[in-house]
Amino acid sequence: MSVLLWFRNDIRIHDNPALDYFLAQKNGLLPGKAVFFVSEKQWLAHDWSAIKIDFIKRHVNALAKQLLLLNISLEVVHCDDFSEQVSFLQHYCQQHNIKEVVANYEIEFNENQRDQLCLAKGIPLRMFESDIIVSKGKVLNKTGEMYKVFTPFKRAWLAYVRQHGFDYLGKPSAVKTELLAEQKKVELMPLLTCTGESDAWPLAEQVEQQVIPEFYQNKVASYGEKRDFPALKATSGLSPYLAIGAISPRYLLLLFLQRFPDILVASDSPEFTWLNELIWREFYRNLVFHQQDLSKHQCFNPKYQTVIWPNNHGYFKAWCEGNTGYPLVDAAMRQLNQTGWMHNRLRMVVASFLTKHLLIDWRWGEKYFMQQLIDGDLAANNGGWQWAASTGCDAQPYFRVFNPIRQSERFDPKGQFIRKYIPELAQLPDKEIHFPHAYLAKHNLKNYWPAIVDHKQARLAALDFYR
Ligand code: FAD
Repeated sequence: MSVLLWFRNDIRIHDNPALDYFLAQKNGLLPGKAVFFVSEKQWLAHDWSAIKIDFIKRHVNALAKQLLLLNISLEVVHCDDFSEQVSFLQHYCQQHNIKEVVANYEIEFNENQRDQLCLAKGIPLRMFESDIIVSKGKVLNKTGEMYKVFTPFKRAWLAYVRQHGFDYLGKPSAVKTELLAEQKKVELMPLLTCTGESDAWPLAEQVEQQVIPEFYQNKVASYGEKRDFPALKATSGLSPYLAIGAISPRYLLLLFLQRFPDILVASDSPEFTWLNELIWREFYRNLVFHQQDLSKHQCFNPKYQTVIWPNNHGYFKAWCEGNTGYPLVDAAMRQLNQTGWMHNRLRMVVASFLTKHLLIDWRWGEKYFMQQLIDGDLAANNGGWQWAASTGCDAQPYFRVFNPIRQSERFDPKGQFIRKYIPELAQLPDKEIHFPHAYLAKHNLKNYWPAIVDHKQARLAALDFYR
């Protein structure tokens, strides 16, 4: 009888509860077996981007080597979809007399259904939680329900952490000191049809050693002041790692507390602004956990469910390609298309533009984002989109329509970000770059797209539509 370790959205050995339990069962030096499923068909059905898949692949290869030092061999199994995963496990458990399959819980609906199916088929699945700081379901309102507004959730979350702390398991100690030469070369996931390039993002191990300490030391104090300026590198860049579970959020908080011991009671300190974002992440994950319909693209606020969006295909294409004639929107979309990542302020601006100026269903934007983002994450993406579209939980009020020109003047005043992604506007004077059409016409320049909608008219149409 033995135990099988199943890696899913927790591609790490550091602070991994399922691995910790597995090691306790395995008893030190004995060899152990782990599995990771490559399910490209399922991933593509979930709109995972090529760059995210490449990022996963690199981390799975690194994980396999780290596991060998713990005397665990990772088998990468190709299964088209979740139902094949279940069949594989069922067969495997019978064949190898497996008494327990251990894994970390995933919050999304299909993943949850798969786990239920495992249990229904008699697979002895035991689950832990690795994706969040405070266990889901611990932070509830007085009637025992999930909060529907962020601020009281945050207060209760902070109170919970102050009172109960949080678990942190550290890194397991290696039982071997070095890998054999042939083990170092192992590439477990070379054969994928879907290929993206994620090399611009270092592996999590390097990020833990360099990026996080440097961010905490040099950047977090000015995060609140600078985080909205896309031309500055003022945010942590940790979202891709959190999205695939390569870095533990509990580790992030632990280090943060070591540096700022009073942070849980210092909500007016500059550093707290950053912790606030991690708590937004917890908020959205709790929402998806408690309200499984969110995984099925339902509006959080049911009154918006039956809205018939005009969905102009030409507008959608222009938005996707970064050709709307609004430089900040276009630069942001080109950043997304070229790098697989987009700055948070710009995610808010382009999402507002799609849903309010162009009156396109937020689900089209949500899907497009997932298909491009390296950090695509159902909970944060759905939360962000429904916030911008005003259909969500604690969302923007519907009458708040971002002015893309004003946003550009405020957050990219010299047009540095715009110039980077729209080289055709690189030579324009600062004050013209935010909406360059009069200047371009005057100088008979035709190298940039006309504005697809007029801001003032689109705003009024949005107010009318939402009303
Ligand atoms: P930092 O500013 O350094 O923040 C630290 C961490 O906090 C982030 O890595 C992230 O995990 C979390 N975080 C920050 N802001 C938010 C937020 N608003 N909601 C939830 N968590 C947050 N984030 C994703 O990880 N995946 C997505 O698919 C995603 N889609 C989004 C779609 C829209 C329309 C919007 C408005 C936001 C979306 N976000 C998403 C949230 C946010 O834009 C990114 O997490 C952030 O830009 C990542 O950059 P960073 O790691 O430098 O973040």
